This record gives sequence, C-alpha cells and structure tokens, in this order.
Amino acid sequence: MKLNDKSLLETRAYIGGEWRDLDDKFDVTNPATGEVIASVSDCSVADVKEAIDLAYTAQKEWAKKTGKERAGILRKWFDLMVEAADDLAAILCAEMGKPLAESKGEILYGASFIEWFSEEAKRVYGDTIPGHQPDKRIIVMKQPIGVVGSITPWNFPNAMIARKVAPALAAGCSFVARPAELTPLSALAMTVLAERAGIPAGVFNVVPNSKAAEAGEELCSNPKVSKITFTGSTRVGQILMRQCSDGIKKMSLELGGNAPFIVFDDADLDAAVEGAMIAKYRNNGQTCVCANRIYVQAGVYDAFAEKLAAATKALKVGNGTEDGVTTGPLINEAALAKVEAHLADAKEKGAKVLTGGSRIKGTFFEPTVLTDVPIEAMVSKEETFGPLAPLIRFESEEEVVALANDSEFGLAGYFYANDLSRVWRVAEALETGMVGVNTGLISTEVAPFGGIKQSGLGREGSKYGMDDFLEIKYVCLGGI
Ligand code: ADP
Repeated sequence: MKLNDKSLLETRAYIGGEWRDLDDKFDVTNPATGEVIASVSDCSVADVKEAIDLAYTAQKEWAKKTGKERAGILRKWFDLMVEAADDLAAILCAEMGKPLAESKGEILYGASFIEWFSEEAKRVYGDTIPGHQPDKRIIVMKQPIGVVGSITPWNFPNAMIARKVAPALAAGCSFVARPAELTPLSALAMTVLAERAGIPAGVFNVVPNSKAAEAGEELCSNPKVSKITFTGSTRVGQILMRQCSDGIKKMSLELGGNAPFIVFDDADLDAAVEGAMIAKYRNNGQTCVCANRIYVQAGVYDAFAEKLAAATKALKVGNGTEDGVTTGPLINEAALAKVEAHLADAKEKGAKVLTGGSRIKGTFFEPTVLTDVPIEAMVSKEETFGPLAPLIRFESEEEVVALANDSEFGLAGYFYANDLSRVWRVAEALETGMVGVNTGLISTEVAPFGGIKQSGLGREGSKYGMDDFLEIKYVCLGGI
C-alpha cells in the first residue's frame, strides 16, 4: 500500500486521547489477495470500559463549548480528511476491497457528513411555547444525550462511523467507536486526523476489538453510555436492543434492507438500466440499500433484461487497485456462500442465468443477471448482499406494490416511471424509509437516511440527523 502519509496506517487503539499498543492483536486481511496487511491492538472489555469512563468525563467539557467552537474543530477534521482522501482511500481499498475510485468516493461521502454536521452544530434551536397559565412561560431546549457507543460494519468502514460521530460530536456528545473487526484501519486513520483537528482527549475513542459480542455487551450495559448507534444486520440489532432494554438506552439502528427496484412500462429504459447498475452493483452489491429484488413490468421485461445484461457484462472485476476495475471481491467466504446459495436456489426454482453465474477465483464473483425468477425464490425474500440481479416479472401496479411491501424490511425502494400520478401513488405506497424515483443513488448527507419496519430506528444525515443525539428538555417558568 503506497501512502503519502504513512502515519495514517495506525494499528493502536485510541483511548482517552492516547494511542495504546496492546499485547493482544488481531490480523486484518486484504480480501482481494488474502494477505495480512496489519496486526491491530485488540481491546478487552476492560479497555472498552475505560474508554467509556474517559468519554464520560470528557463529554462534560465538550458540551460546554459553544456550537461554534465544536463546529470549527469538526470543520478542520473535514478539511484534513479531504486533503488525505487518497491515502484514506488506499487504506480502505486494501482492507475492504472496493475499487480505489469508489473508496475515494466513500471517503468524500463520509467527510461530507462531518462538513454538514459542523454546520448544524451551530443550529441546535429550541422553542418557546405560549404558557398554559397567565404566570407561566414554557421553554424547550435541546441537550446532548451524553456518551454514545457505536458499532459499525465493514461495508463502509469510513462512512458508517463518520455518519454517526459527526452529529454526535456536533450535538456535544462524546463517542466510543467499536469498528468492524474486518476493517478497523479506516476507523483508526480517520482518528489520526481527528486528533490533528483538535478533538479533545476522550471525546472520540476508538476501540478495535475482535470479539464483537463482548464489546457490544459492555457498550449496551454500561450505565455511563446513554445511547447506542448501530449499523449492521437485523439479527444483531435485535440482540443489542435486548441488551439496551434494561438501561432504557436510546438507540439508532440502521439494519438490513431488501430493496425493491421496480421498472414500469412507462419508464425510460436506459435510465432504468443506469439506475439499476448503480443500485445493484455499487460496492459489489454489499450495501444495505442495494436493489435486491428487481421487478420489471411485462411489456418491457425482455428489453430491460437484455440491456441490463449488456451493461453487466461490461463491468470489470478485479483487485480494486488495478485501473478500470469496477467491481472488487466479496468481503469473505461467507458472503460468497450466500450469493451462491441464493443463485442455486433461484435456478432450482426455474430462474435462468442471462449473464455471469460463477465464482472467478477467491471471493471474486461474476456480476450476474437472472431472468424468470419466481417470487418464492430466496432472493425475493432475503438480502443477498452480492452481485446478483434477479429479474421478476409483474403485470400491474397494484400487484407490484403488494410484492414490494411483502417484506419485514423497509429501508430503501426504487422505481422508474414517468406517469406523474403513478409516481405519487407508488412513492406514497412503498413501505420504506427512502424512495428513489428515477434514480438509483439516494445517499447524501443532506437527506435523512434510515428505515422503517425491521430496517431500523432513527435517521442519519440532514437536519433530522441531529435529533438522534439530542434530548428535549422542557422548562416551565412559574410565578411570573
Ligand atoms: P454484517 O453482516 O454487515 O457484518 P453484522 O450485524 O453481523 O452485519 O455485523 C455488524 C457489526 O456488528 C460488526 O462490527 C460486527 O462485528 C458486530 N457484531 C456482530 N455480532 C455482535 C454482537 N453480538 N454484539 C455486538 N456487535 C456485534
């Protein structure tokens, strides 16, 4: 890995403003090559506990700073991340596998949340409410929740943390991050820059750790942690929610998706193919908002399938550091096994492979388009999290809306249509937290990202993103 600033490749834990080289270590592997790229300090439960204690103390002083002071520090952090974007992208590509250009895109996307919330830090407004009695006045203020514990996945090693830590710090909370064990290096690299930006000791702590369940339990049960913010599977989200129930901790959960992507007869087909390519294959299909079930209306089914297959064939799979590569490896063998299982199941139930369909080598898998996929197939119900595009035929709007909503998940939904009344009807009818109409790319720091049903709680990004890290206090002033 070639870096301009080698000090960004940090392997120590960051606790209370100190870099700690611990005896226990765990290895980080490059999924494209299988090589071990670093050995990272492995925090024990005691280390996590200490980070929480230090975050608890530091939060009091951090919250006393003005919004403008916190904004200035966050803005500095954003600037440093943008300056170091190439190095951060190289680290991300090496530990996670997404191509370099896409890795840099993630760094800038992650940084955009720090920029956005540095601005919002100055705008934590309250309210005054007309009193309910002549001698009373009512004021509503917003205050930071306190110490926030975060648990994040490997698919966006930078952005998932940036999206959480930025609003938390802007609001005046302190933060203990437990990054995914597969991708701690991006978290540590951004922490080096956080320290350089002047984030005070204890306000942002990073505790790399290989035993997720132990660290998670400490974060969820420690009374000094006031809130847990988590991105990952619904299964783990449920475990964390149970663990948080004793302490009635606040939670933000960004969980599994199973996004429907619908192409109606009246859609612009080329635009729909372009959108499907992004929504399906971005990050090699490993995002929670990836199109999982692609429903195509009968009148355009064959034409859409042909165009999507042609575009899919043009993708270049390989090591993300190579020029022109659009699609990296899957993160590990388990991810590959899931893609293969969904593919085998769909084929057994009658689906046909239009393009792709095989493992290339290691965890590299050919981007695959399936036609004639029946609604009973596993791919129609579960998140595949891989480069498999199953095309399901439908006849009517009513039918497809029912199919799309027949899921316990409700994160993102996409559809392509031009009839204005249909656009309104379907956008309103989809049971998801986010809807992309005639676009396959919806993530941005200026909009509220999040799901309904079992896809989660809370929103990240936009002015709404601050609310997840603030408590409302109502003050009643009497005797006036
Ligand atoms: P993914 O399939 O995206 O890895 P997971 O929900 O399994 O989704 O993992 C998301 C994050 O949650 C990872 O950092 C993982 O280490 C962590 N994790 C997994 N199991 C637990 C657990 N029991 N408690 C706390 N964190 C966990």
